[in-house]
Amino acid sequence: MAKWIVASLSDGGTHKAELTNDGLAKSECDGDLFRPLAVLPGNPADPAQTCQRCNEQH
Ligand SMILES: [Zn+2]
Repeated sequence: MAKWIVASLSDGGTHKAELTNDGLAKSECDGDLFRPLAVLPGNPADPAQTCQRCNEQH
């Protein structure tokens, strides 16, 4: 199941994503692989850091 995963600390840098077997994460919005900085236990606290495209999918 997809979790909110931090790709970068800039605005929109937290994506809904699936962790892959090689320690990367795959974003739902564009399917890009990125190296996760952190996996959030729930929803992102700061809406400005949330990827809008991932947010609108749910
Ligand atoms: Zn996204």
